[in-house]
Amino acid sequence: MLPCLSKGASYIFWIAFLKALRENRQSLLGANTAAKSSAESITNSDAQTHAEGVVSEAGGTLSGLVSPEDKNVVDVLINKILEAVAKQWSKVLPASNIYGYGQSMTILQTAKVERIVEIIDQAIICDNMEVCRTLFVDILKSKGTSAEKFIQIYEPLVPPLRNLLQSKNRDICSAPFLDLFQILIGTHLRDVLGKKSQLSKPRLRKIGCGCAECQQLDKFILNPTAETETFRLVQVRRTHLERQIATARDLCTYETIKYGSPHGLQVTKRPEVVEASTWGPRQNAAKSFLASIGTDDVIERIMGGRYADVVAAINGTMPFGAKAAVNIAPGPNATAGSSVTNDARRSAQVPAPSSTAVAPAPAASRKRKDNPNAVNLGVLDLT
Ligand SMILES: [Zn+2]
Repeated sequence: MLPCLSKGASYIFWIAFLKALRENRQSLLGANTAAKSSAESITNSDAQTHAEGVVSEAGGTLSGLVSPEDKNVVDVLINKILEAVAKQWSKVLPASNIYGYGQSMTILQTAKVERIVEIIDQAIICDNMEVCRTLFVDILKSKGTSAEKFIQIYEPLVPPLRNLLQSKNRDICSAPFLDLFQILIGTHLRDVLGKKSQLSKPRLRKIGCGCAECQQLDKFILNPTAETETFRLVQVRRTHLERQIATARDLCTYETIKYGSPHGLQVTKRPEVVEASTWGPRQNAAKSFLASIGTDDVIERIMGGRYADVVAAINGTMPFGAKAAVNIAPGPNATAGSSVTNDARRSAQVPAPSSTAVAPAPAASRKRKDNPNAVNLGVLDLT
């Protein structure tokens, strides 16, 4: 039955089956009759009908396979199912069409995050960190820009993952979680925080005369994250706005949209103005993300020799990854066997660490060799 594990059956079925197998591991190893109780313990009614048949089949097969030499057959099966389940974290079904598009998307994203946490939970129980590592690579490789994925997956994932690790007594700095958090922090700093504009804070100010149209214009100008807006107005009112905008060339430009009725006046803020005026919000977003992972001490433990770069990026003195790069060094408290490689970081397009990193690359390589079970995240290829 193993060849059919990865196709066809639903996530809900396999996760229920996995839990049932795990809970009934001993009796499955002991007797053929255990198959029935295994099926009965599945509470999910949707999964139960399928599970009864499959568990019977599995039990039947197992009783023939289990021998004094090989008591691990149930564990092999459990891990195979865990692997299959991990591949289905994103295969959530679209929500019912009674919801609007936006709401459906939110429900889908929430379902994905819940699956990720559930899979990690099961992997920790089964002590199968390889599955976690493969899952993390899969998530990092999934479609979407990193900015989108922070909103949809990474940011919602951090709090429940942190709670899970706490409840399981797992150090956030143990592999492969350390690797995941290093990549997430680095990517957030590079892609969401970005760099602070060299421009001194632009003087976002009212530029209108106070009339109704000018109030709309000022609302746009004073919104730090707004980049462009089109005002559809009759010509005389457009000309009025153009005159007001002429007093604020340092902030924005305009152009007339000569289709539609009435024509539009498209006002666009200068990119450096947007960059400078969004620094505060971006900085706050980065601080909140780091705080969702842990205190400054925790972030320092995770980032090790690169912690100074994190602080510099947040303060706006140097963008993350701006320095010349050498090989990644694990954090000072990093668990041996942590094996997200430099290749992985390169592929994940996370800036390589600075030359101030404490441990030289060969140490990291040795650690990898010492741990033959470590999955090399170097296969990660986002190009
Ligand atoms: Zn006016």
